[in-house]
Amino acid sequence: MPRLDKILSNLKYGSRKDVRNLIKKGSVLVNNDIVKVFDMQVDPTYDKISVNGKPLFLKENVILSFYKPKGFLSSHKDSLHLTLFEWIKEPYQRLDLKIAGRLDLDSEGLMILTTDGDLIHRITHPKKHLDKIYEVILDKDVEEASLEPLKIGVLLKDPHGETYNAVAKDLVCRNEKCRIVIDEGKFHQVKLMFKKIGYEVLNLKRIQIGNLKLNLEPGQYQEINIEDIFGDK
Ligand code: URA
Repeated sequence: MPRLDKILSNLKYGSRKDVRNLIKKGSVLVNNDIVKVFDMQVDPTYDKISVNGKPLFLKENVILSFYKPKGFLSSHKDSLHLTLFEWIKEPYQRLDLKIAGRLDLDSEGLMILTTDGDLIHRITHPKKHLDKIYEVILDKDVEEASLEPLKIGVLLKDPHGETYNAVAKDLVCRNEKCRIVIDEGKFHQVKLMFKKIGYEVLNLKRIQIGNLKLNLEPGQYQEINIEDIFGDK
């Protein structure tokens, strides 16, 4: 069984030393009793733990869908820009949430954040072929014939210099607006695909990942289940 101080420092209540002080101060209750033994063994599934009167949020795995607004970086730390984690509040901000598929700083839309490492792999690994759907606005009206190369596949380079074939599984355009489906998500992939055929992407919004559709406002998030992404498979 894990130690009380370890559980609390994993949940970002501070360093081991901070957590021990918190416990010494009498701010931590286990099964409604104040505990002052910081290395007490507790079972987080049975013992009720609270800090400053707030019950701990202990779940094995959490999955959040999130609408990343433009101008927020898909990373944990950055000295220049605000990151998407600015939006994530208690109790979720204490969790070790990771990003399942980034969006560029100037892109917006659906993201999945989760504590589940296997799920990240299922969503992002190119071999898993999970559809991602984007709405884009281009710098000019589209000529239908110019889209053909994207439907067949264009050769692009990833940031490591490796060449890959990028294919639009579905692509529908009207004037300067398009809806494109791809089943992988390499760095800048959608922008690079359109660049290859002579268009610049001015706005990019991810509206679907697998079965999960964007049904949030910018900056909002909600807990979801694996079935929301993969159906009952
Ligand atoms: N493709 C891009 O070019 N940018 C994104 O943010 C996502 C997909």
